[in-house]
Amino acid sequence: MSSKSLKKISFILSIVLVCIIIFKLSHINIAIPASSASANWDNWNVEVEGNNNYIKWVDFTPTYEVLDKTSKLDIDSHVNNEDIKFNWVELISYLACKYGGNFNRFNQKDLNALVENLKNGKTIEELAKDYKHYSYYFEAYDAVLHEFIGEYEVETIDDAGNKSYTKKYGIKAYLPIASNYSFSHYDDFGNARSYGFKRVHLGNDLMGSIGTPIIAVESGTVECLGWNQYGGWRIGIRSFDKKRYYYYAHLRKDRPYAENLTEGQIVTAGDVIGYLGMTGYSTKENVNNINVPHLHFGIQLIFDECQKDGVNQIWIDVYQIVEFLRKHSSKVYRNTDTYEFYRKSKIIDPVIPREKYVYY
Ligand SMILES: [Zn+2]
Repeated sequence: MSSKSLKKISFILSIVLVCIIIFKLSHINIAIPASSASANWDNWNVEVEGNNNYIKWVDFTPTYEVLDKTSKLDIDSHVNNEDIKFNWVELISYLACKYGGNFNRFNQKDLNALVENLKNGKTIEELAKDYKHYSYYFEAYDAVLHEFIGEYEVETIDDAGNKSYTKKYGIKAYLPIASNYSFSHYDDFGNARSYGFKRVHLGNDLMGSIGTPIIAVESGTVECLGWNQYGGWRIGIRSFDKKRYYYYAHLRKDRPYAENLTEGQIVTAGDVIGYLGMTGYSTKENVNNINVPHLHFGIQLIFDECQKDGVNQIWIDVYQIVEFLRKHSSKVYRNTDTYEFYRKSKIIDPVIPREKYVYY
């Protein structure tokens, strides 16, 4: 065969290949039944080649009921050392595929059937094999919930002052408001905000009293600490896997932070990191310009470092997460000399390198 006809054949072959790819891509949305999910997929442009194949958009829609039920299955199966141990992120991701991301369609029968199949020895990969977006949901939800459930150790001190540690498996993320402090909130994610420029609300406002101790939800590194004209005194904490950035804003005037807290420092989930206030909406530092005292709490997901401060930031609705975390709040006490608050019960979180432990 001449090189000319070889070229011709390979040209025709590549045209056919391109046609197949276009056909496949145009049918990729087939598995998404609900319209609620379509907006996600438009933004989720995973490219196969190059280093651009990271998740571009996440709507975190699992309801409290789903988080509650799947977490109990996960925790009970581990605590009771059952033969089949459930991973709640897998269960939630499977349900997300079934409902096209719309968890208002949750039906207990679907979860029961999934659990039954897993107990009968089927793997989640086998069960989800016909769901094209299972791996997307798993990666997205795992990025949110990765450190919420797992192993940790709780410190106990006996009367003689001897410390001992008890291994546990359970919820290890904490409510951002200290135990026994009341707060109110509603799902205000996406509401309009007008201070400075028109934008939407990228978090959840927890209304409470000034001075309420604010708790680190997850262990991580203090990445930013200081004044911002929108957030007032605020703290940004990055998880160790770098995928979550926790944002706590409008902290107390004059004494916003836990004593000696600095950028670069490591905090443990459950530590007191600051105090609720009403600072912000001011170019001038340390000004109370927020009408109602509250903690602004937000979680940003970062799949690629360029998403951290770019225009395509992914902030998720944390309302259901806050409701879920009501189950696990940090008890605190006040040092009567310094008026500082500290956690009562210390933990060892295996995600933190052992030599870096510091307690507050
Ligand atoms: Zn807010």
